Amino acid sequence: DEISNLTVAVRIRPMNSRELACIGAVDIVKVCDDQLIIRTQIGSNGNMSTDHVFHYDHVFWSCDELNPKYATQEDIFRTLGDPLLDSAFRGYNACLFAYGQTGSGKSYSMMGKNMCEIIDIDSQQFTGITPRFCRNLFDRISKLENSAASVEVSYFEIYNEKIHDLLANSNAMNRAPLKVREHPELGPYIVDLSVHVVKSYKELRNWLLIGNKNRATAATVMNEKSSRSHSIFSIELCLSEGLIEEGSSRRSRVSLVDLAGSERLGNSHNTEEKIREGVCINKSLLTLGKVISALSDQKKNQFVPYRDSVLTWLLRESLGGNSLTSMLATISPANTHLDETLATLRYACQARSIINRARVNENPHD
Ligand code: ADP
Ligand code: MG
Repeated sequence: DEISNLTVAVRIRPMNSRELACIGAVDIVKVCDDQLIIRTQIGSNGNMSTDHVFHYDHVFWSCDELNPKYATQEDIFRTLGDPLLDSAFRGYNACLFAYGQTGSGKSYSMMGKNMCEIIDIDSQQFTGITPRFCRNLFDRISKLENSAASVEVSYFEIYNEKIHDLLANSNAMNRAPLKVREHPELGPYIVDLSVHVVKSYKELRNWLLIGNKNRATAATVMNEKSSRSHSIFSIELCLSEGLIEEGSSRRSRVSLVDLAGSERLGNSHNTEEKIREGVCINKSLLTLGKVISALSDQKKNQFVPYRDSVLTWLLRESLGGNSLTSMLATISPANTHLDETLATLRYACQARSIINRARVNENPHD
């Protein structure tokens, strides 16, 4: 009853106008099946080159729509989102997180081109994984026979190690941050986080839009917040099978995570506030890295420092625990981002060595 359950994928976005306008900016990423090659010119006249070769479970090349190997939003959903949906229906927890420097395509991949305007998936080729996941979830629920399903959602962000509900009534962002507690059986949870029962994709989509708007508002009020916070959209699926007396129920949680920008703190961050933000983001992503490397270390009884950051504490069940995990690392194809791109690719390689064992959340007496 155990399956290997970590998938690591990389997506390369198109060059943006700033990169195209930059003199000497060139595309340095080559893709060959599931192999990704970074070619860098060395030597003063650029006549020598060196290759960095990386292997992943999937490499999505999304640079030029006219090229037949172009990976669409739907392709990415089919490859990464669908298996998470399958596992949720089988009673496993699942988690997908997007990792990469600011501007590399995390939010585009997770939510879509304009996260405040998720209209209709059928006419929206730009819609990201999260709304596609939600729509497919309800498509599958409508086809269920002899079982009942209930769906609950929550949406929050972690900024400076503090949790803010993105779906709470009003002025949510002005409220005191929420606290994490440990439940003896269910693990870590957020006290007083609002949870919303949804009966259709339309209802779910409305919550998603409210949360996205709250995210955008908070980002406008506090400059750069969007790149410095982690956002977590969480869906809980409960399936009850057969007659109530003899039936059993299965509960699973899917967390779709848009991580803070992975870029390292530069010298330009000189105000106290900015330094504190940077330290906290580094703390979460740094701890995530430590957790990943502790898990990838095959030695038994290796201490895994989940509690060192709010993000890893809450994601505990999705990293090495009772869950299926996918990571989408996003990168720019331009040589101007070489250092951050290599840092992202190395982080993703390290993540790929985690071996998770998942267990079904089944409770026959529930
Ligand atoms: P991040 O969330 O990592 O900071 P975004 O997702 O906001 O980055 O992407 C930055 C910009 O690049 C946005 O304007 C977005 O629309 C564009 N972009 C990102 N990925 C793609 C892609 N695969 N195809 C087309 N445009 C993209
Ligand atoms: Mg973003």
